Amino acid sequence: MSKRTFKIAVLGGDGIGPEVCDESVRLLQEVERRLAGVAFDFQHHSVGVGEYQRNGNALPDSTFAACQSSDAVLLGAMGLPNVRYPNGKEIAPQLDLRERLKLYGGVRPIRLFNEADTPLKNFGAGEIDFVLVRESTEGLFYGRDAVLDPDADEAFNTMRISRECTEQVCRLAFQIARQRDGMKKVSLIDKANVLSSMVFFRKVFDEVAQEFPDCEADHVYVDASALFLVRDPKRFDVMVTENMFGDILSDLAAGLVGGMGMAPSGDIGDSAAVFQPSHGSAPDIAGRGIANPIAMHLSAAMMLDWFDDDNCKVGAKMIHAAITRVLADASKRTPDLGGSLSTSEMTDEILQAL
Ligand code: ATP
Ligand code: MG
Repeated sequence: MSKRTFKIAVLGGDGIGPEVCDESVRLLQEVERRLAGVAFDFQHHSVGVGEYQRNGNALPDSTFAACQSSDAVLLGAMGLPNVRYPNGKEIAPQLDLRERLKLYGGVRPIRLFNEADTPLKNFGAGEIDFVLVRESTEGLFYGRDAVLDPDADEAFNTMRISRECTEQVCRLAFQIARQRDGMKKVSLIDKANVLSSMVFFRKVFDEVAQEFPDCEADHVYVDASALFLVRDPKRFDVMVTENMFGDILSDLAAGLVGGMGMAPSGDIGDSAAVFQPSHGSAPDIAGRGIANPIAMHLSAAMMLDWFDDDNCKVGAKMIHAAITRVLADASKRTPDLGGSLSTSEMTDEILQAL
């Protein structure tokens, strides 16, 4: 039987990005060995602040072209806080990648693997389990390239909510809810009591909800949702929201299950997808081999699950099951969670549990 080959663009990026990304490639290569019928063709490309410093372009054309022609992109992290463009703007090629590949949906699964990792009381393994879907190309981050006039007496940002992006991201949220074993409920997180842009978001959400009569739909104000996340996270199955609300809530949600090192993500479009941990380049711990690779590994599993291929879906389940087994032992942790394993030792544990 001929093997189906998936071309994967690997972008390590900056800080701890390459450290965790290389570990996920090692994990995926082991999964590939154990799966019949699939091959992964990993192609490494330069990107990020380091690449900007070397060649003047944080997202070289050749890298972008490779991302376009691959089945998926596996990305570590990009950006460094103290290096900026001459005009003072942040170097954020991950945002350019999202916008240019039209990756409208930021999918962030939040799952508690061990009660030892949550600051909440009385929540055990699997008892915090929801998906946050964030619109990733517009919302309050629209027009982020505008430069502030130094003489300005006031400043504005625009919340752009388009019908097209809203329909797409809401449909994605309902499709995810439909596939999950949970309540099949999608909660719109908005501020429709104050912002007309959010009234529009709600209107489009309600229209899309009609297409999914098998799913429940509800509305929660963003401020109330912050309280619910801490007091009653079980009320959520799939949450969908605009760009900045999603940015803030996803860090809060990550904090419920062990922090940034435990939070995977996928940026999904109709014909492309980028899988990366929710965290950034964490320059404070870069180069020390102590970054938690779990968020990256869970992102790699999301990638396999996203491929329309039964073998890859088995591979995703293998990774998930191995991580579940390893994390059931609370002593197996990297320093961010109070343990002493290195990045590669943590991965070795997962490889053994595969
Ligand atoms: P971004 O602007 O890209 O969101 P950020 O400034 O919010 O980045 P992160 O890089 O996401 O910052 O991380 C914040 C802090 O969390 C880091 O400085 C680091 O101490 C810790 N951290 C993040 N990811 C990990 C990880 N994988 N393992 C261990 N610690 C991590
Ligand atoms: Mg952040």
